[in-house]
Amino acid sequence: MLKKTVFAATVTLLACASASAQEQVLNLYSARHYSTDEALYANFTKATGIKINRVDADDAGILARLKAEGAASPADVILLVDAARLWKGEIEGLFQPVKSKALEDAIPAQLRAKPASDGGTPWFGFSTRARVIVYDKIKVKKEDVDTYEELADPKNKGKLCIRSGSHPYNLSLFGAVTEHLGPVKAEAWLKGMVDNMARAPKGGDTDQIKGVASGECAIGVTNTYYLARMMRSDKPEDKAVVDRVGVVFPNQASWGTHVNVAGGAVARYAKNPANAVKFLEYLATPEAQNYFANGNNEWPVASGVKVANPALQAMTGGSFKSETIPISAVGMNQVKVQQMLDRVGFK
Ligand code: FE
Repeated sequence: MLKKTVFAATVTLLACASASAQEQVLNLYSARHYSTDEALYANFTKATGIKINRVDADDAGILARLKAEGAASPADVILLVDAARLWKGEIEGLFQPVKSKALEDAIPAQLRAKPASDGGTPWFGFSTRARVIVYDKIKVKKEDVDTYEELADPKNKGKLCIRSGSHPYNLSLFGAVTEHLGPVKAEAWLKGMVDNMARAPKGGDTDQIKGVASGECAIGVTNTYYLARMMRSDKPEDKAVVDRVGVVFPNQASWGTHVNVAGGAVARYAKNPANAVKFLEYLATPEAQNYFANGNNEWPVASGVKVANPALQAMTGGSFKSETIPISAVGMNQVKVQQMLDRVGFK
């Protein structure tokens, strides 16, 4: 009886070993919704033989799923598109800290999580995007929209279009502004934006840019890559939008423009942790940074990787001042921000 059990266990081990020798896999939960990432995944499989199984959901959906699945989760790598959600995944213990010299060498310290107690890093940023203001060049003067504060100024009444306040991109921007202004002024600012809206929040960032171009709005808020995508488009309707719309990197004279991070982590209960680390290390290589960042018109983060994106170059004139507050502060402010949004009626 005992012999039989041992034999069965041996057979099972062998079966596992041969299965993994035949097919190396990586289960990826991704909130990135960018078609240029496909080439990135294909290249990784080509280079390593590791097949990627991908589950697509938004940041909140992925975090909820990881929690629900617990130790049974098949997830190996998590990719999210918002710094505060990366921070949330970290403090909720959903990630497994990684010790990798390659990653530590490539990713600047301010774009990755602080080391965990075991010295590993819970998550790494792989690209950045700025949250900027777009405006109708015919109706609005640039100097009337060159700070986030002015989005709430009565001079801009009836002009503002912005997506839902509860979207992670806005929660992070508002969390950052709350850190800069303090909660009392921040709430007044949110109320001022509600008073200035041309329409109730709806759609994604691209819809706000289009709203400005169509004349429905005069001012919009967007992540840089949505605008850059239109700037690089050959479609006549996109060119028309880009001709009409100006862009400003807000708060250059004060705390700097709000920048968000897209990044990745190894799942706490990863079944293929070695493959997961390999994948994160791959994302930090110059080749992958080119697909990951430039492909989606974001800024690469790995040291030594050049920004070779004409649209971003044109938008910034080369460089801009970005804010420098800790991601944890933005993350910690989010519950407060959601309560403020509810109080001022920011949908
Ligand atoms: Fe996006």
